[in-house]
Amino acid sequence: MGECIFCKIANGEIPSATLYEDDKFRVILDLSPASKGHALILPKQHVANLYEIPDELAADAMILAKKMADKMTKALSCDGFNLVQNNGEAAGQTVFHFHMHLIPRYDKDQVGLTWKPGTLTDEDKEEILEKMK
Ligand code: AMP
Ligand code: ZN
Repeated sequence: MGECIFCKIANGEIPSATLYEDDKFRVILDLSPASKGHALILPKQHVANLYEIPDELAADAMILAKKMADKMTKALSCDGFNLVQNNGEAAGQTVFHFHMHLIPRYDKDQVGLTWKPGTLTDEDKEEILEKMK
């Protein structure tokens, strides 16, 4: 994946503000943060998204997310924390190398990660339950 920016950052070819690194991951500060401390977990291995990530790497990413949430919450004294992970253009993914957003939240911070709640119709419910069997 010669042209993947997150491959280059994760593997240290491009310098980044690194909060954590091990043999499988690098955690960097997002260049356009949603809040103070917004960071990204990047696997060093190139996988495009959740559909492609091997189970073991996905498990390791989640464990690392938990560790980072603990450490960042203490260090930054944030009041809450969002884990966000986008897959595909339709879901807002813009860099097609798997990453998890670590977004510290502060009381009344105005970070817009909400949606307009819809209504679960009986028709949708039945259709989805049937399709998911
Ligand atoms: P997504 O929309 O989930 O694909 O998120 C991509 C994220 O990567 C965005 O929050 C960008 O601000 C961030 N980003 C893109 N390029 C860089 C970069 N070179 N260094 C740090 N963060 C980046
Ligand atoms: Zn990559």
